[in-house]
Amino acid sequence: MKIFNYMEKYGYEQLVFCHDKTTGLKAIIAIHDTTLGPALGGTRMWNYDNEEDAIMDVLRLARGMTYKAAAAGLNLGGGKAVIIGDAKKDKSEEMWRAFGRFVQSLNGRYITAEDVGTTVQDMDFVNLETDHVTGVSAASGSSGDPSPKTAFGTYKGMQAAAHEVWGTDDLKGKVVTVQGVGSVGYYLCKHLHEDGAKLVVADIDQASLDRVVKEFGAKVVEPDAIYDAECDIFAPCALGAVINDDTVNRLKCKVVAGSANNVLAEDRHGDMLQEKGIIYAPDYVINAGGLMNVADELKGYNEERAWQTVSTIYDAIARVIEISKRDNIPTYKAADRMAEERIEKIGRVRGNFIRR
Ligand code: NAD
Repeated sequence: MKIFNYMEKYGYEQLVFCHDKTTGLKAIIAIHDTTLGPALGGTRMWNYDNEEDAIMDVLRLARGMTYKAAAAGLNLGGGKAVIIGDAKKDKSEEMWRAFGRFVQSLNGRYITAEDVGTTVQDMDFVNLETDHVTGVSAASGSSGDPSPKTAFGTYKGMQAAAHEVWGTDDLKGKVVTVQGVGSVGYYLCKHLHEDGAKLVVADIDQASLDRVVKEFGAKVVEPDAIYDAECDIFAPCALGAVINDDTVNRLKCKVVAGSANNVLAEDRHGDMLQEKGIIYAPDYVINAGGLMNVADELKGYNEERAWQTVSTIYDAIARVIEISKRDNIPTYKAADRMAEERIEKIGRVRGNFIRR
């Protein structure tokens, strides 16, 4: 694997291998781009088949964070960490503390958080060794469950997309299909119900379905039937890769706007949505509410300010649509362009000498 070639191609700054013999820690930290600020991104613990897979994963995820933070208007760069190991068996306080010391050694260039395979408790251990960690327990100043914020951001982004199609933010009477009514999906349904939207939902968990039927009068369809349901807006809030060869031509909606990550199976499915005249609100822009919330911890968490920041997802989606029309490109490409333009512009701000 030609690591430096890859780093050069995509503009990575730093890749750090961290090993601690006594605790068995094998961690890799990737810092993609710190033009806008310190690199923030969670730590994933995963039993990778081989080291090359772990390196590729951390590099890919770190770059994704650069785009997400930039598009969200945050003064943060992109980074990520992976720990090679079984999250069920290989964790210990001492391992997390060893990892925390490595994070500390980067002196704030990288700020860690939870991700797949890691918990608030793990981050509390990391926090014993470094200040450069978010997503710790409430007692340590955490922002708590990000789902309500992610849902609110998704709702605001949906409004912006609706405005483009129907000339109004008002979702009253619109039929919204929500795939997955778990943490984020539930709160999204709540906003939509309050606005007078009609909900059609699917989930594989009966208790989650019962809750939205009871509280919001949602209509339930079978999981696979959600793609065929007559609707105005489709909100994927469960799985990735749900816009694919099988589903893209079945959709009846004018807007795709949901919280799920990696909604497009492949980029070409984003092109297909554009050809069909469906506005796709790019996943990493519309679901940045959780990141915005956790980023607020860095300033001393203020929930009111966090809600305010999350509401700017409306403007971010509106801007993506504007760039998509300006450059005649699909929205998923416009999102990348919006992020790149911001990094480029801020990077060009003159570095006048300031005595500190
Ligand atoms: P969750 O696990 O609480 O909810 C997901 C729901 O989807 C569950 O109720 C589950 O039963 C349901 N589901 C699973 N398979 C399904 C299927 N085939 N059809 C229909 N429903 C199905 O997760 P969440 O925190 O609500 O996150 C939802 C999505 O949003 C995920 O893709 C997640 O990565 C993404 N996301 C979440 C956040 C956040 O703050 N929680 C932030 C950014 C992105």
